[in-house]
Amino acid sequence: MYDPGIIVESIDISQLRQGAVHRLRLHLTEDGAGFPIMVPILVARGRREGPTLGIIAGVHGDEINGLPVIHKLFESIEPRSLAGTVIAAPVVNMPGFDRQQRRFIEDVDLNQIMPGKDGGSASDVYAHRLIDRLVRHFDYMIDLHTASRGRVNTLYARADLEDPMSAQMAHRLRPQIILHSPARDKSVRGEASDLGIPSVTLEVGNPQQFQAEYIRSSVRGVRAVMGLLNITKARNAVENKEPILCRRSFWTYTDHGGLLRVAPRLCERVEKGELLATLTNVFGDVLREYKSPVDGVIIGKAINPVGHTGARIAHIGVE
Ligand SMILES: [Zn+2]
Repeated sequence: MYDPGIIVESIDISQLRQGAVHRLRLHLTEDGAGFPIMVPILVARGRREGPTLGIIAGVHGDEINGLPVIHKLFESIEPRSLAGTVIAAPVVNMPGFDRQQRRFIEDVDLNQIMPGKDGGSASDVYAHRLIDRLVRHFDYMIDLHTASRGRVNTLYARADLEDPMSAQMAHRLRPQIILHSPARDKSVRGEASDLGIPSVTLEVGNPQQFQAEYIRSSVRGVRAVMGLLNITKARNAVENKEPILCRRSFWTYTDHGGLLRVAPRLCERVEKGELLATLTNVFGDVLREYKSPVDGVIIGKAINPVGHTGARIAHIGVE
């Protein structure tokens, strides 16, 4: 029998025994049957005082690479040796996770409505309590995502590189690419920034799958961040390749519907004018060849070939 965790209405670290790992189920709202919707939480509280690192995953319910990152991290955590606390939520969008969908109920993207509203709609209240009962307790945050369905991503971090602490965290994660991305309003990271919590979004590959290589690399990266924050004794930096730094990025889109083949691989550098994608119609006639408008690097790309006019082609980072 597994430990199902204690049901709580808020996270109060001071109530949790030091030098131990705790399982909680954080009650946020109730479903249509009147039953509680609860977010699973792991807390490793060290023996010594120190900062609280929050790690959340599954804000989008079908982005699941973050779960094993948290599981493997906690397998290796020795709470007695920590100075501070690690709080991790493997899935925050429980209704979306159950349905294997990106969105929350009401077809709402939770990452576009933060900080929600008490006394608002179902998603507004859920968002509000997620911030109030969980995120607010963090001193630092890592938000784990993946590409959305029909697309693939590199292992890349988004962070406001003008915020020194967020920038350092992004570097310690040692992903393939670090993208300067000022925290956007209404996202979880944007709300965390407004609360003064240095934050990084780590995009861990693709939706609806576990990718062992990216998961291993992310676990090493999170451990390195724990070292940076002095929650653990500093370890040697992760040995991955030096990340590619991008100061901005953009998506390219089709201007015609059809069947798309995107040529470059993930993380591949492309030159201005190089072939990005070929579009054919249903008879097999080539309709378009899309070229890269800049020298850049492929951060993510479409893998679902079928798209109407305005389908996404590639997410290009500019160094
Ligand atoms: Zn996401």
